[in-house]
Amino acid sequence: MTMDNILFDSFDHDHLWHPYTSAIDPLPTYKVAGARGNRIILADGRELVDGMSSWWCAVHGYNHPELNAAAAAQIEKMSHVMFGGLTHDPAIELGKLLLEMCPAEMNNIFFADSGSVSVEVALKVAIQAAVSRSGSHEKTNFATIRSGYHGDTWNAMSVCDPVTGMHGAFGPALPRRYFLPQPASRFDGEWNPADIAPLRDLLEKHSDEIAALILEPIVQGAGGMWFYHPEYLRQARSLCDEFGVYLIFDEIATGFWRTGRCFALEHAGVVPDIMTVGKALTGGYMTMAAVITTREVAETLSRGEAGVLMHGPTFMANPLACAVACASLKLMRKQDMAANIARIESRLKRLLEPARELPGVTDVRCLGAIGVVEVEGAVDVGVFQKECVRRGVWIRPFGRNIYVMPPYITPDEDLETLCREMTDIIRQGKWK
Ligand code: PMP
Repeated sequence: MTMDNILFDSFDHDHLWHPYTSAIDPLPTYKVAGARGNRIILADGRELVDGMSSWWCAVHGYNHPELNAAAAAQIEKMSHVMFGGLTHDPAIELGKLLLEMCPAEMNNIFFADSGSVSVEVALKVAIQAAVSRSGSHEKTNFATIRSGYHGDTWNAMSVCDPVTGMHGAFGPALPRRYFLPQPASRFDGEWNPADIAPLRDLLEKHSDEIAALILEPIVQGAGGMWFYHPEYLRQARSLCDEFGVYLIFDEIATGFWRTGRCFALEHAGVVPDIMTVGKALTGGYMTMAAVITTREVAETLSRGEAGVLMHGPTFMANPLACAVACASLKLMRKQDMAANIARIESRLKRLLEPARELPGVTDVRCLGAIGVVEVEGAVDVGVFQKECVRRGVWIRPFGRNIYVMPPYITPDEDLETLCREMTDIIRQGKWK
């Protein structure tokens, strides 16, 4: 049996959907036998240096002894009980840990079962609170900026970028939102006041219909890996206040130190009315997310017509997920996270900068533990990944962006390997 046969599974090929794939011509998948630290171990025994943290999640690395111990201890007590009418220590402890990390104004937490669901809940919360606050049933729409990504469920999808998102496939089935231009001012560049003008124009005309503005603060992730200027958030905050529109920050990808601060909102010193967190919350162990709001939002909603937050999923505040999330957040508290992310950021900046000179490269940008090389055309993911696996690294590009966001435990020599191989693949043109 050849190596490729060990990695290929025909049942998987014929029957299992993978993210955004075709059933007729799926991209190759590589079978994984295990993972530990910052290594993914393939079924043929080869080890890959992980550059993705399993899509922003596995920040402490895989198979972490403290997270394993937290899961094992909790499973002996209970994996799950309903959250309707019952509560438990893992949820209470997680709530306390989260509020300690969040801006002081944040007060109420809804534990959801995935990032997309938490975005759905945040949008529902915004409508319930906005209708209650304004007394108007018209205030039920949303505004956002282009090139955003907020998840794949219906309403989350409706606020994703209308071009790179899936609007094309669903057309009129999706609710129509107000889209603003993507802020063009770079995170580390000059602020151009023209960036914010369209938001003022929109709110002057339509704030009566808009419940909230939803944004990924600072880093637009899956919509384009773009890092924009913190001033946009400060001015968006004051415009939302002026026009009576709630501000939602989706920190699902950016939260828990990925951008160098515990939350990306800290780069701007702005407090939203509602925020969502997920992904790294459980250190990548299992699915869990949370919607966190100010007391004002929670109380305004509760004084509204329904009188209650209209959501309550079966696996809400799953104790196993809460216990692992507590262990993950405590691990962060024990370390000098800012210094470690600064270490990763300085390495990524130094190691990826030479890629700027390569043919086909249009930009290189790094922030926190995220390093992006943008190329001039869409990357052929299958070709690129085959080359990565051959070289012993795991990097999954999308669109025009080839990027790494490694686990925070990645040692310097593995950051070097990731950046070297990524740059070399681009140099050899093996992304087309
Ligand atoms: N919001 C953002 C900013 C995200 O990056 C993602 C996931 N890529 C989501 C929401 C959706 O989260 P999930 O995939 O857990 O539903």
